[in-house]
Formats: sequence, C-alpha cells, structure tokens
Amino acid sequence: MKPMGPLPPEFAGLDGALTIGGRRAEDWVAEAGDTPLFVYDAAIVAARVARFRAAMPAVDLHYAIKANPHPPLIAVIAPLVDGLDVASAGELRLALAAKPAAAISFAGPGKRDDELAIAIGAGATLNVESESEGARALAIGDRLGIAPRLAVRVNPDVELRGSGMKMGGRASPFGVDADQAAALVRKLIGGGADWRGLHFYAGSQALDAAAIADTQDATLALAARLAEAVGAAPPLVNLGGGFGVPYFANDRALDVETVGARLTDALGARAAILADSRFAIELGRWLVAEAGVYLTRIVDRKLSHGEIFLVVDGGLNHQLAASGNFGTVVRRNYPLAVASAMGAEPEETVSVVGPLCTPLDRLGDRIALPQARAGDLIAIFLAGAYGASASPTGFLGHPPAAERVSG
Ligand SMILES: *Cc1c(COP(=O)(O)O)cnc(C)c1O
Repeated sequence: MKPMGPLPPEFAGLDGALTIGGRRAEDWVAEAGDTPLFVYDAAIVAARVARFRAAMPAVDLHYAIKANPHPPLIAVIAPLVDGLDVASAGELRLALAAKPAAAISFAGPGKRDDELAIAIGAGATLNVESESEGARALAIGDRLGIAPRLAVRVNPDVELRGSGMKMGGRASPFGVDADQAAALVRKLIGGGADWRGLHFYAGSQALDAAAIADTQDATLALAARLAEAVGAAPPLVNLGGGFGVPYFANDRALDVETVGARLTDALGARAAILADSRFAIELGRWLVAEAGVYLTRIVDRKLSHGEIFLVVDGGLNHQLAASGNFGTVVRRNYPLAVASAMGAEPEETVSVVGPLCTPLDRLGDRIALPQARAGDLIAIFLAGAYGASASPTGFLGHPPAAERVSG
C-alpha cells in the first residue's frame, strides 16, 4: 500500500456522498450529461482570495490564468482580483473578456510580433523578457502610434528554496539578467515606453513560508537596487508568487499568514525609492487547485497477479498531473476517493488506472479505498490547477472532459 496526499480541508470532513458546491457528485454528472467531468467550486476560490486579502491587505493579487483558463472560472475570479496575468495572445483574449486591459500583464519568452501588437493595441502591459523583445515592442508601438505599456521581467539572482520548479538564480529563458535590467529599463523609457515597473518570478509550488518570505525580502532589495540604478520609481513591483498546495502525503499546507506578516513588515521597511510603488503577488495554483475535483466512473474492476485494478473512463489525457507525469520526478499519489463513500474506512488496496493503452495512465497506485464496483464514481482532488488545459487531450482520441463551475 502507498500513501495518498491529503484531501483538501473543504472535502476532508464529508461523510457519505461527495458534494461539491453543495451539490452531489452524481448530480453534477447528470447535469453535465456524462463522465469524465471537472467541477470547480467557486466558493473555495473566493475563500482563498479572502484569506490572501486578510494576510496581506496592502498587496495586489493577480491571477495567473494558465493555471486554469476555463472562461466561466475566469469570470468568477476576475472581479475578486486586481489583475490577470497571461502568457499568450490566446490567454490575453480570455483575460480581455473579463478585465480591463490596464489590469492585464503578458509575460513569457518568445512573444511573436503579432502577439506584441495585439497586447500594445489593447493597452495591456508587456513584461519584456529580453532586450530584443523590448526593441520590437518599441518599434510596434511607433508603428501603431501608441506608447507601449512595458514592464521588465528580471531573472532574479535569488531562487525560491524548496520550490517544485525553480525559475531564478541561474541561466534562464525567462526575463533579463539582473545586471542588465536597469540599462534595459532606461532604454525603454528613452524609447518612449510607458514604463510600468518590474516583474520577478522565482519559482512555483513552494510550501515553506520562510523560504517564500526570504525570497520576497531579497526581491524587494533587488527591486530597490534596480530602481536606484534606473533613477526612477517603478509604478508596480510584481513580486511573483509560487504559493504551493499540498498534493502528497507529508506535504503541509502553506502558512500564508506567516508569508503575509513577513511581507507586511518588509514593505513597511522598504527603501525610500519604492515609497510610492504598488506591489503585486501573482498566483495560479494556490487560488484554484483545491477548488477542482475530477470525476471519473469505474468501467471495469479486475484482478491481475493479486492486484486489484479499478479501470476508470478518464485518465492522463485529462488529468496528466495526477498520473505523475507533469513536473514531478517521483510518481506519488494525489488524494482520491470513492464519491459515494466519503469518510468510509478503507477496505482494500487498489490501483486506479485510466483507459489509455500506456502504463503511464495510472491515477492511483496501490492506494487504500473503500470497496468500489463498476459504475461507482472516483473523485480525484487537487484538479483545479494544471488539469484540463495542461493535459494531452488529443492522445488516444477520447472526448475531452466537461467542465463546470459551481455557484
Ligand atoms: C506559471 C506562472 C505563474 C503561476 O504559477 P503557480 O505555481 O500556478 O502559482 C505565475 N507567474 C508566472 C510568471 C508563471 O510563469
């Protein structure tokens, strides 16, 4: 038997039939017409936003929509946050449907000229990732007769300790190295840009509050040094994010209140040149991961060499991350449950596998569950971030999963 990650607190106390947003899992499936299905509980997302606001009241909150770009979910989140962060012209289009352009920023290496032109024309902020991208943005602004709104993304000389994905402190396709950033900002201002500030992003999926706070302290100090070197105050300093969620056994939820207290102190003591700057944190996963449940029905139950397999109708084609093939080195179990038997004692050790003809399609590896039969629903939790949009939906030709937002 292998361990599973913890059920999110909102579902951990349920007894009997799983409910999501006050509605039974089977009723969600009936309404959607079939399994597999993602359901996102808007109330859980709103509670995360409220918790963030209470922990760091002076800081803007941005939603990084790559975590979950389902348009009805973006529509729920957009009014609750101060900004939307996008990483393609496609995401920009989704964001513009939900928020004014002035509240949207566009990061990512390899922005094409047509993407730059769409963003500049719309009035969104571009987080410039290189000197040549900055030059292209200025030229396109000239051609359109618009002063482009440009921020500079800095490859920070700090990294986020313990984060699942490090994106700072080393050679990187993201941003310009810290020692080149001030010169680029001066060049952009000199070239007629509307300079919006500085963007930092040091890593993702961090659960250690002290590590996040240390990174934020170092980022603030770097922002102050760069502002001094530019000789101007950045209107906005985007401090990045990287707040993680507990996916696996022994993961502990991030203590956001400690992060907030340390950041509030650090901002209170910030350098004079940042006195009038605003500060933002951009979050994807932490806002939406725990709000999502992936529901899939057992098609077959079989025994092989003494191991029980529950074969379900959904798999890594919809929820790659739960199979352990999205950004993890060692395969570990996401939290799973039999939707009709929440809170019931485990009775047997089973593996939950999807319908794809590859051994990678394993959603639960030798986990302890209550007895389940063909026809029962399996719920896979932590499915709200990097699920439907981060999975190879074309692989093996099964239909896409439906998506629903509660509330
Ligand atoms: C992916 C990404 C995010 C969101 O990361 P999460 O781990 O989902 O919070 C935020 N900012 C940037 C620049 C990113 O690339």
